[in-house]
Amino acid sequence: MSHPLPPDAAKPANFLRTLIEREVTEGVYAQRQWGGSPGDAAHHAAGGADPAPVRLRFPPEPNGYLHIGHAKSICLNFGLARDFGGVCHLRFDDTNPEKEEQEYVDAIVEMVHWLGWSWQANGTDHLYYASNYFDFMYRAAEYLVGRGLAYVDEQSAEAMRANRGDFTTPGTNSPWRDRSVEENLARFREMRDGAHADGSMVLRAKIDMASPNINLRDPALYRIKRAHHHNTGDRWCIYPMYAYAHPIEDALENITHSICTLEFEDQRPWYDWLLARLVEGGLLNAPAPKQHEFGRLNLTYVITSKRKLKALVDEQIVEGWDDPRMPTLAGMRRRGYTPEAVRKFAEDTGASKTNIWVDYAVLDGALRADLEGKAARAMAVIDPLPLKLTNWDALYGAGHIEPCSAPAHPQHPELGQRSFGLGPAVWIERDDFAEVPAKGFFRLFPGNKVRLKYGMVVECTGCEKDADGRITAVLATVVPDTKSGTPGADAVKVKGTITWVGVHDGIAATLNLYDRLFSEPQPDAGGRDFREALNPASKSVVQGVVEPSLAAVPADQRFQFERHGYFVTDRKDHAPGAPVFNRITGLKDGWAK
Ligand code: ATP
Ligand code: MG
Repeated sequence: MSHPLPPDAAKPANFLRTLIEREVTEGVYAQRQWGGSPGDAAHHAAGGADPAPVRLRFPPEPNGYLHIGHAKSICLNFGLARDFGGVCHLRFDDTNPEKEEQEYVDAIVEMVHWLGWSWQANGTDHLYYASNYFDFMYRAAEYLVGRGLAYVDEQSAEAMRANRGDFTTPGTNSPWRDRSVEENLARFREMRDGAHADGSMVLRAKIDMASPNINLRDPALYRIKRAHHHNTGDRWCIYPMYAYAHPIEDALENITHSICTLEFEDQRPWYDWLLARLVEGGLLNAPAPKQHEFGRLNLTYVITSKRKLKALVDEQIVEGWDDPRMPTLAGMRRRGYTPEAVRKFAEDTGASKTNIWVDYAVLDGALRADLEGKAARAMAVIDPLPLKLTNWDALYGAGHIEPCSAPAHPQHPELGQRSFGLGPAVWIERDDFAEVPAKGFFRLFPGNKVRLKYGMVVECTGCEKDADGRITAVLATVVPDTKSGTPGADAVKVKGTITWVGVHDGIAATLNLYDRLFSEPQPDAGGRDFREALNPASKSVVQGVVEPSLAAVPADQRFQFERHGYFVTDRKDHAPGAPVFNRITGLKDGWAK
């Protein structure tokens, strides 16, 4: 099997890994045949031994963009497949015609690739569409009808709901439950052929209306819905229910471990019942897949409901699915997250049998740990104020520019040096100057000396103001013979070092300063409207200045702006002549409680 990602060195134990390890050792799935593509029992029987010891799948519904919760599921499934030398299929669960769109299909493919995973193995592209299985699903339904295990129910939706009972009351049999096989078959074919109105009847399994598990009280298999489907067009006017379709999709694809989130736990008996009947009937390959549930990932300060994320987009609270504040993978990529950091986060949060809340600091920590070693350093000024060196021309000659340099990365000398010049005027941060310093303030104030990082020591002499009293420039003198890296540079001791960019060679840049989208750790807790928890200051746009080494950087490049944090050139809006940087995150944990 070919996998683009090498296994990570240390792997936290999780119950799914332990379970798969045991089943592989016991050879539970060792006898399976694989027909080279998804198919029924006969198709697989005609093939050879399955080259994949395990098959898993990631089955998104293409009705929205992937988010960080999906990344968890993607890394779990693809990671387990990789670790056991198996395959993970990417399957579009596109059996619901109403909400699915090609735009979402394309975005999902792109983001699973971005995360670094591949569904190719042994020259086969394991990308599948559940809607390609509609014919088999229909045939399986006729088979169940033929065995007296399914019937067409013509009760109204309300009656059906009422007769289902609840946790304390058993259900009541439908008056249509005991129709003959012939009558059910004829009716079901009429449903398929468009002879009945939408919603007028459904096909149901015939199991047990008194089952303590409500999912076994004659679950619906097919409904009538005249809707155009993105793949099958207008061919069908009946569509399978999710809980009927999903187990069949797994079985046709020879999936061994069907991993889903905990809310499907009560569906497992139905999953097993259905596949057992279809295996008995010789329609599906044995052994049937098994469903295993793990806890959903919830991240503080984040919402991961597709419906709510869509509302943020539709109501223009954010600027699209890939807005850098969104927890979508498209948004996180644009924000500057690395796939390595997302995978590390998914790995570190393991898999458990309960839904978990993970502190955003864990994701942010994984991100900073990854960026620290990778991001080239640069100086940038976010809130620029000119600093005028009043003795410069006298010392060095008018307009002299002193060349300075700094390592591109302190731990990676092989990345070389960056160059910039120090001249008579430089940009500094407005808050690096105080006319009257607070206690412990060691930066610029009249009479104090600081080092311009990688440059020289300067002594502040005062400032200039406009008519309104607003400071328009800071004044200082250069202390001779203090250039960084020259002998005697340290003879003058200073308590503060500040970053700066030359006025003559600095490059104006737009800086998008992003902060958390929500100011509450659980924005939609207790059914609250998440709109009320929005952080009004989640985005501010400022005009800053960056050092000249960034003059021609391409989009999607990450940097550490010294003292400020990590920034990335925006994938969409950045152009070398008009740079746009997004703040990824700060240098320190800004999420700790
Ligand atoms: P939503 O309810 O927001 O629409 P979903 O779970 O219905 O999300 P799918 O496209 O059906 O979205 O999900 C594909 C897979 O991703 C499923 O197996 C689902 O269980 C998993 N998944 C989705 N959200 C999370 C999460 N927060 N944590 C772990 N797995 C998740
Ligand atoms: Mg779903």
